[in-house]
Amino acid sequence: MAKSPEVKLAVFGRAGVGKSALVVRFLTRRFIWEYDPTLESTYRHQATIDDEVVAMEILDTAGQEDTLQKESHMRWGDGFVIVYDITDRGSFEEVGPLRGLLEEVKKPKNVPLVLVGNKADLDHARQVGTEEGERLAAEMACAFYECSACADEGGTVAEAFHELCREVRRR
Ligand code: GDP
Ligand code: MG
Repeated sequence: MAKSPEVKLAVFGRAGVGKSALVVRFLTRRFIWEYDPTLESTYRHQATIDDEVVAMEILDTAGQEDTLQKESHMRWGDGFVIVYDITDRGSFEEVGPLRGLLEEVKKPKNVPLVLVGNKADLDHARQVGTEEGERLAAEMACAFYECSACADEGGTVAEAFHELCREVRRR
């Protein structure tokens, strides 16, 4: 099997949207309820995607960084997951500015990106419609997934990360 160079992925989004839970779900297929919200970590992971072994480094940002720190994380990454919480409209409204900063930092490149609406298990508390997420993703020309870090039977979380790896490898 062909081996490719390491892909650097960074996960962005307001504090509390479930970035750490999603990363842990992807890495361990488990859900951890409480995770230090101020913690920023990087993880190494390998997955077979389309018959290729892809090594990745994943940066789980805290979501409370100032602009300079965000920019430095953006320069580091090859591909980005922007996460919002479907029960938190404010987190959805932060997606646009994050994308704007990304475009600025990475210009003139077209930045590999996926948009994730997390906490889909909390449909009763939903503040952001699925169509709104789809529309925003279409505007940003990126893939969109609604998922749940705690109830991920379909493996949507891994699918989002894998699609991002594909997107990075295409560029
Ligand atoms: P982060 O600050 O973006 O890293 O968010 P965390 O991963 O620390 O999650 C924040 C809170 O949301 C924690 O209490 C998690 O248990 C909870 N959480 C994360 N993902 C989900 C999810 O998909 N569904 C539900 N119901 N809660 C979640
Ligand atoms: Mg976190």
